[in-house]
Amino acid sequence: MKGTVLYGARDVRFEDVPEPKIIHPTDAIIKLSATCICGSDLWPYRGLNEIDSPLHMGHEYCGVVIEVGSDVKTVRPGQFVVGSFCLSDNTCPHCRFGFQSSCAHREFMTGAQAPYARVPLADGTLVATAEMPDADMIPHMLAVSDVLGTGWYAADAAQVHKGSTVVVVGDGAVGLMGVLSASQMGAGRIIAMSRHADRQKLAREFGATDIVEERGEEGIARIMELTDGVGAESVLECVGMETSMQQAVGVCRPGGTIAYVGVPHGVSFDGQQLFFRQQRMLGGPAPVRRFLPDLMNRVLEGGIHPGKVFDLVLPIAQVAEGYKAMDERRAIKTMLRVGE
Ligand SMILES: [Zn+2]
Repeated sequence: MKGTVLYGARDVRFEDVPEPKIIHPTDAIIKLSATCICGSDLWPYRGLNEIDSPLHMGHEYCGVVIEVGSDVKTVRPGQFVVGSFCLSDNTCPHCRFGFQSSCAHREFMTGAQAPYARVPLADGTLVATAEMPDADMIPHMLAVSDVLGTGWYAADAAQVHKGSTVVVVGDGAVGLMGVLSASQMGAGRIIAMSRHADRQKLAREFGATDIVEERGEEGIARIMELTDGVGAESVLECVGMETSMQQAVGVCRPGGTIAYVGVPHGVSFDGQQLFFRQQRMLGGPAPVRRFLPDLMNRVLEGGIHPGKVFDLVLPIAQVAEGYKAMDERRAIKTMLRVGE
């Protein structure tokens, strides 16, 4: 079969790769219904992460199980499944505490930008639906696997609740999902920081009540003005740069919480600033597995439409164009059709 392989900066190819096979008895093989490109795939694509050998790309997935290893008990061939980008046993102490993304046996999913993929730790990672979802559900189910799961974790970690004032830093796909999640959790006010008209429109559709276009000190000043000088109790940092983190720190009220889900690149903290600002912080790779059953239900019941975040859909053979479009910010997020 053909799959997506990254060789180095801006060199991604759709080429022959080995068919995935059961390696461990806890593995499953799935036939992808669709797959997509993550904002985090752009770090190695832009050459900002060193890579030693070609990478089999893709960690967001949903599809139909075609084969399982001898130890797999909870999913079987023929079932439609969604899994997290973090592979977990879902039984160790960290998993039972709700942090499957720190599982004692954690691995990260790879190779999902392909027609077929191997999912290790299938019992702990995959969640099956009762029935085969309609084709129009696929983009929304795919979004649950990472981008919505991460936005949801950001809102959960930032302790968003009914009536909360929330600031979302970053208008990428995860930030937009953070807006949707905060809205689902009943936030009273959701301030989205965005300077792109198309993303502002989507943010409003997902539940943003205010848009702030300014950045840096000006952005902080604008949000302090909007919140009567208080700041927000929940801040979702969905970028991972020093400037975005400072933005988050600058608008979070004392006693408030900053959730950070963008992989930090060049971010550092000042101990005394942390001490005197009295802010709570929780972040890291999202334990999407914790939220999967709930989010899949919300999608299947038609309550949320996270797949709207895919503003470019291409056949997987054109995966290189999908990366390019996201790199050049022509697309928020690219979905890849498989099996054609
Ligand atoms: Zn575990």
